[in-house]
Amino acid sequence: MPKITKNFNPNFSSAGNAEIVKLAKKGDSITFRPADYPMYYGQHWLEDERKFVQCDRVNSPDLENPDPCQYCDKYNKDKETNARLKAKVTFVFPVLDKQTHLTVFYETSQMVWTEMCNQEKKGIKIFDYDWIVERTENKPKYYEITRLEKDPLSEVDQAAYDEAKELDVEAFVKFRMGKKKGDNSGKVEEAESLDDIVIPGDEDLADNVPSDLPF
Ligand SMILES: [Zn+2]
Repeated sequence: MPKITKNFNPNFSSAGNAEIVKLAKKGDSITFRPADYPMYYGQHWLEDERKFVQCDRVNSPDLENPDPCQYCDKYNKDKETNARLKAKVTFVFPVLDKQTHLTVFYETSQMVWTEMCNQEKKGIKIFDYDWIVERTENKPKYYEITRLEKDPLSEVDQAAYDEAKELDVEAFVKFRMGKKKGDNSGKVEEAESLDDIVIPGDEDLADNVPSDLPF
């Protein structure tokens, strides 16, 4: 069983007992085996109020006809002035953390998923490999993404990996969106209790979030 550390957040117990891993600062890295495709959620950072609010457009259940979002509208009206208001889209993977041998929710940016997606399009079975992501903050890529040689999992890692496949990513994402599990209706509430939020900086400017989500 994963041990509880300072990052453990009991508020999403319905999603499974796993920790959250983010690469919070330059030089941080993770080596992981993805257990499933990611899910995502969108937020806006309100500079004046120093808080995140949900992006109704990104979080809309109907991608063909997404909900309007006042913050996206404001951003689109004057992207230069409102650069910091750009929607920040976070991707959540259920993974085996190869360094800690734990089952974790790995929260990352769109570019990590885009790179893996590109490799999958070339025929790479992305779930059969370990990946290293390092936050280098280099331009133009904010993260360095490396796929390792194929390597069978140890017994301990296999058990944690099997647990990762069972994680309820949807419940976790809904927790992030301020929704209760199974609640697909209505507007999401304001972000709350996000004690480990990262204030958007260069990463968000480096992230090229398209207007026609999801990918
Ligand atoms: Zn928005």
